[in-house]
Amino acid sequence: MTALFNNYSRRPVSIVEGKGTIVKDANGKQYLDFTSGIAVCCLGHAHPALVKTIQEQSEKIWHISNLFESPGQVALAESLVEDNHLAHALFCNSGAEANEAAIKLARKHTGKHHIITFENSFHGRTFGAMSATGQEKIQKGFGPLVDRFTYLPFNDVEALKETVDDTVAAIMLEVIQGEGGIIEVTEEFAQVINEICENSDVLLIVDEVQTGIGRTGTRFAFEQTPLKPHIVSMAKGLGGGFPIGGILGTAELYETFGPGSHGTTYGGNPLGVAVAQTVIDHVFDSSFLDEVQEKSQYLICKLKEALPQEQFEIRGRGLLIGLDCGKEVATLVEKAEQEGLLLVAAGPQVLRLLPPLTVTTEEIDSAIEILKKILVEEKSPVS
Ligand SMILES: *Cc1c(COP(=O)(O)O)cnc(C)c1O
Repeated sequence: MTALFNNYSRRPVSIVEGKGTIVKDANGKQYLDFTSGIAVCCLGHAHPALVKTIQEQSEKIWHISNLFESPGQVALAESLVEDNHLAHALFCNSGAEANEAAIKLARKHTGKHHIITFENSFHGRTFGAMSATGQEKIQKGFGPLVDRFTYLPFNDVEALKETVDDTVAAIMLEVIQGEGGIIEVTEEFAQVINEICENSDVLLIVDEVQTGIGRTGTRFAFEQTPLKPHIVSMAKGLGGGFPIGGILGTAELYETFGPGSHGTTYGGNPLGVAVAQTVIDHVFDSSFLDEVQEKSQYLICKLKEALPQEQFEIRGRGLLIGLDCGKEVATLVEKAEQEGLLLVAAGPQVLRLLPPLTVTTEEIDSAIEILKKILVEEKSPVS
């Protein structure tokens, strides 16, 4: 027992420093970090540009609140909507908070309450976001939940068509269910959702908290699908390790949140915004994104070479890759860690590979060697 609450099952390793993809624990042991702090450290650890930004901005101003104008927020918002159909942004501090804002905006705009989400989705742990999450284990013991969420089977066109009626304010989904096991939305399902949302007053909320900011090889993952969201939530990669989240919305939503209707003290403070701007300046560069896609193909190709395809299913896009092992992976995460590779599970049977977007092919090769050792040569004793 420690002075901390017991709400995490932590690995018995304390990471004390990191550079790029490599982190070091308190005993000096090195690891390849293929968790990126759960899809957060998109530019790796201690990226020189982020270190410089934090140093410089911390000497100017950290926090002033939204009582005052924020040219930094305006510039960041412009960068985030520059290359898509979205028009405005609002900043907060986390993914759950971003989804709260999305849900509140959808309710206020439509005047309706009912929101359709999906089984095995994950939208966060605050009341609204937890209620949106289609997983009993996340909600257990915390009820009563926020009302009027319906969880439908993911990628089930019939169930969706049967359920949508004029009570529905919004449909909310992840392009790739991250925590739920790296399950991609199908092209057909995305098409149907889009038709529904274009031909009625149902809003489309896409939760890009995990998939956004270059993680899947494009600025946002929805760009690779027929989805045309009215609201996009983001966090994780946005601050590259500094806590910041936000939503983007279409022009028609501009009037919905009037002054005083929604907000947060820290949201978009100058320190967070400066870091996020540096992240975006790097990640939204088209040659950077091309490289993410090349590394993704390299990683997938090497995984296919190394692992027997009948035993392992590889899913995902960009550098959000799931390796479905068809069995419990908890002990595999431990074995990988002993061999110097940090991984995170996505559901009980899937290993998630989330290297920094700056990972090198040599680092991918080293990770593949370790995966091969723990997954294929499992029975031969490790020396
Ligand atoms: C991580 C995650 C969240 C929650 O973000 P927090 O910053 O932990 O609140 C919400 N949605 C998705 C898709 C996520 O992966």
